[in-house]
Amino acid sequence: MTQVKGYAAETANAPLTPFNFERREVGPHDVQIEILFCGVCHSDVHQVRDEWGGSIFPMVPGHEIVGRVTQVGDQVKNFKEGDLTGVGCMVDSCSTCSSCEQQLEQYCEVGFVGTYNGREYKTQEPTYGGYSNQVVVDENFVLRVSDKLDLARVAPLLCAGITTYSPLRQWKVKEGDRVAVMGLGGLGHMAVKLAAAMGAEVTVLSTSPDKEADAKALGAHKFVITKDKDAMKSIQNYFDIIINTVSAPLDLNLYLATLRLDGTMVLLGVPPEAPQVHAFNLISKRRRLAGSLIGGIQETQEMLDFCAEHNIMSDIEMIPIDNINEAYDRMVKSDVKYRFVIDMATL
Ligand code: NAP
Ligand code: ZN
Repeated sequence: MTQVKGYAAETANAPLTPFNFERREVGPHDVQIEILFCGVCHSDVHQVRDEWGGSIFPMVPGHEIVGRVTQVGDQVKNFKEGDLTGVGCMVDSCSTCSSCEQQLEQYCEVGFVGTYNGREYKTQEPTYGGYSNQVVVDENFVLRVSDKLDLARVAPLLCAGITTYSPLRQWKVKEGDRVAVMGLGGLGHMAVKLAAAMGAEVTVLSTSPDKEADAKALGAHKFVITKDKDAMKSIQNYFDIIINTVSAPLDLNLYLATLRLDGTMVLLGVPPEAPQVHAFNLISKRRRLAGSLIGGIQETQEMLDFCAEHNIMSDIEMIPIDNINEAYDRMVKSDVKYRFVIDMATL
């Protein structure tokens, strides 16, 4: 076992505090990574506060990891000491079910192992995430990161990037499509950058008037404040697809009405309460309500390569790890531009 330093919540709603723990020895197929940066996802807040139920404590969150390989197992084929790597939301899956066979490990029928707040298949030991100085991961769940990009700004791609890239690809967003992005936070700002890079006309639907200039700078063509009834009326029956990243409960009916015939709203945000949808809002325009969960490992690598090619990175606010509790409070108030990233050198 190796001694590791990190930050953990000891119980639901407890502030995160320094926490020492052990990680497994590097096995034949494992890669050991010194963590340089870790992004802060709203899912970290949901799980630390046990808003989805079933959280495992103590919890070391963090699934937007970038770091350098320090050791590899003797059977590892694709990585060597010194390589720059990323780890996202998953560290294992069954590898044999039909989802895994289609490279869709996130929909593994046995259930993928989360980077944190999960349990290892063999030992049933809890997994601990990236708010720590080191991680050991099976090489099949390790991504390759380009050294041409700013590593701190790459970290959020491992969750916010792939979670928005995957539905844009699944629903085949192309030049000229009208894409709406609900909520300009960590996921939302990546959705804007990616959809714009794919040639779409991008509209941000936001509750924060002060984000308009940023939205345009990120690549959005239009910006609509959702409390503005006239502005909302002007976009009725307009969008091909809505990427909904909102983390809090809200009335979806208002937004469904902005989809044109055969338009789709993809739910990415996971508010604790279930939404209510009026059937007329779907049947009147053959609209669809869909969902999407992160992305498979192969698609995550494709996204990282796409971002390297298009010079796409997250807009971040770097924090020392002892500011993490304040960062959570700010994130819940939608006060983040647009992703907090922990500089692990401060641990
Ligand atoms: P975030 O940075 O906090 O962004 C969420 C944005 O939603 C806010 O910036 C805000 O944008 C908007 N919002 C917040 N409260 C709102 C309210 N009461 N009414 C309307 N809009 C509100 O969070 P994130 O990290 O992007 O994550 C977003 C959600 O996606 C979370 O629920 C997270 O758990 C989930 N998630 C899902 C997946 C997946 O695989 N499906 C992966 C990662 C995260 P404006 O200020 O522009 O209104
Ligand atoms: Zn996440």
